[in-house]
Order: sequence, then structure tokens, then C-alpha cells
Amino acid sequence: MSKFRIYVLRALSSFTKPLSRLIDQFEQLPGIGPRTAQRLALYLLRQPDEKIKNFSKALLNACEQIDQCKSCFHLTSNEICEICSNVHRNKNLLCVIADSRDLLAIERTREYKGLYHVLGGLISPMDGISPDMLQITTLVERVSKTEVSEVILALTPSVEGDTTSLYLAKLLTPFVKVTRIAYGLPVGSELEYADEVTLTRALEGRTNII
Ligand code: ZN
Repeated sequence: MSKFRIYVLRALSSFTKPLSRLIDQFEQLPGIGPRTAQRLALYLLRQPDEKIKNFSKALLNACEQIDQCKSCFHLTSNEICEICSNVHRNKNLLCVIADSRDLLAIERTREYKGLYHVLGGLISPMDGISPDMLQITTLVERVSKTEVSEVILALTPSVEGDTTSLYLAKLLTPFVKVTRIAYGLPVGSELEYADEVTLTRALEGRTNII
């Protein structure tokens, strides 16, 4: 156990139980360490009652009202999300991503006008995540029953991402054209500092200039 962690645990013991419990809840959030958890809890306690009530209400409402889209599994407060129900989206293109954060990242580019399918993770035998735990059966069903003509795999370039891409490509190729987004060098980066895997992928993903 780190020195800081021991220090925080000692400090926590001097807090009243409700405060310790609140700090503990914050600490369970991703990316929040003991120091930040303590800061957030103490900050909230200093806020007016009205602000705290609004915060709790927003959190509860979000948990109660937000569910997964029945078609693409993106988060939505309706049965079918705004992207799936948008008549201007290209129904021939289906971009497969691991989770909703990836969808939001692609949406920010404003370049992609097709639909999405959120897998809910990546195949990872090390972490015990098998294909049946992801939205893969629904993907195959969707591709075979709708007007999708191209599936674009936009999964993280990692062992898990590559395993999932290969698995999906084998499964979907009999029905539809399957492509993968190009992986390469980040804009503004120096070529000489790129690692071998990134450079190899950049070379493999080369395209015509004109
Ligand atoms: Zn949807």
C-alpha cells in the first residue's frame, strides 16, 4: 500500500461516517484517486442545498431515463436513438465501435453520415470477455436484415481490437463488404519518433494522393 493511501485512510478515519462513505463512492469512479475523491466530496459539502439537490436529481434522472437504443445500442432516452431515427443518415453504411464514447468521437468529426453499432466492449479472453457477451449476434442479424452494404470496423488498434476486427470480418464477409479504418500517424507528429507498429500500419494503410 502506498504511503499516500495509508495517509488518506488515516485521515478518513477522522471523518464522520457519512463523509467517509461519500469519499468512498467517488473513489470507485474511473480515474478518481483518493486525493481527488476527498476534494470532490469536500467541495460538494460546501455547496448550497439547492445545488446538491439538483445534482442528485440529474444523476437519478439520467440513470432512470437513459437506456440503450434497441437498434444500435448507443445511449438514448428513447426506444430508438436520434441517429438511428434520422432519415438523412446513410442506411447503407454501418460503423462498428466498442462503446458510445467512440461513437461521440466520430460524430465530432462531422464527416461520417452513416449509422453505428455499439458492441459494448472488445473480445478479450484475458479479461473473460467472449463474443457472446458483446452485441455481435445483433450485429449479424442487423446486417443480414437491413440495407447495409458496407460495415466499417472502427476498433482500437490493440490486441483486443485486432482480435475483434478479425472475428467480425470472418463473420460478416459472406453478407457484406467489410472495411477497417486506417491506422497511422497522428497529425503533427514527427515520423522519426513513431514506433515500428504504427509506422508499419501507416505504410499498410497508404492511399493515392491524387
Ligand atoms: Zn440507435
